[in-house]
Amino acid sequence: MNLLEGRVAVVTGAGRGIGKAIAEALAAQGAKVAVVSRTEANSKATADGINALHAGAARPYALDVADGEAVAELGKTVLADFGAVDILVNNAGVTRDTLLLRMSQEDWDVVLNTNLRGAFHMVKAFQRSILKSKGGRIINIASVVGLMGAAGQANYAASKAGLIGFTKSLAREFAGRAVTANAIAPGFISTDMTGVLDDKIKAAILEKIPLGDFGQSQDISAMVAFLAGPQARYITGQVIAVDGGLVM
Ligand code: NAP
Repeated sequence: MNLLEGRVAVVTGAGRGIGKAIAEALAAQGAKVAVVSRTEANSKATADGINALHAGAARPYALDVADGEAVAELGKTVLADFGAVDILVNNAGVTRDTLLLRMSQEDWDVVLNTNLRGAFHMVKAFQRSILKSKGGRIINIASVVGLMGAAGQANYAASKAGLIGFTKSLAREFAGRAVTANAIAPGFISTDMTGVLDDKIKAAILEKIPLGDFGQSQDISAMVAFLAGPQARYITGQVIAVDGGLVM
């Protein structure tokens, strides 16, 4: 079913991992996709992969989402390239894990500026077009850590909790235009981000997951594709955990 035929989506952090799977899933449903990542080679590789399956569906863009001026320029370029944007997925995110005792202001700023301020810049760049869209969608990739907190992740937890508050406020502001805003809270998903954790930490996390397995990027992209589509028109302001039962 091509439920997203005629829709245009912007996905950040789409060069690897969860964002790449999201861009692919939206294109598989018929959407045109602006593939945004920090590294040009990564966004190009994702876009090339999509275009090989769905000719002309994707275009690559490279920038740092924390850079407000660059994001404003991206907004102009993407709108010129595609005409309009209906769906925005804020997925770009980083970690700088360390205990608060050792956390520098730089560790704090990099994480907050990417994960939270980046989403603010992106919404500012595309909100007018999304508000004009019939059934526009904003989907923010938060984390269960934004709900639970995590030792060694005060910066990351604050950024993701902030993203959840941001999502609920957008949901309220945009509801009058039938635009929905939702957050997804992934649990532990196997990507480069979690690949760097040592095996002891992974084993300790695994013990806490009722479904007894780590998630895959496609577990998250399937939820994004659903929330982006017409069946989710009556869902807004929600935080949907996709976490094997970690938070319940
Ligand atoms: P990942 O494998 O590290 O990939 C992160 C992606 O974000 C990359 O494409 C990277 O770009 C991009 N990115 C990072 N900083 C950026 C910036 N300043 N500007 C533009 N793009 C930037 O991460 P992931 O595991 O797929 O995570 C994706 C999202 O899910 C993140 O928001 C993360 O917090 C969230 N999440 C992940 C998990 C998990 O278990 N993996 C759990 C909960 C939430 P380049 O590749 O171009 O450098």
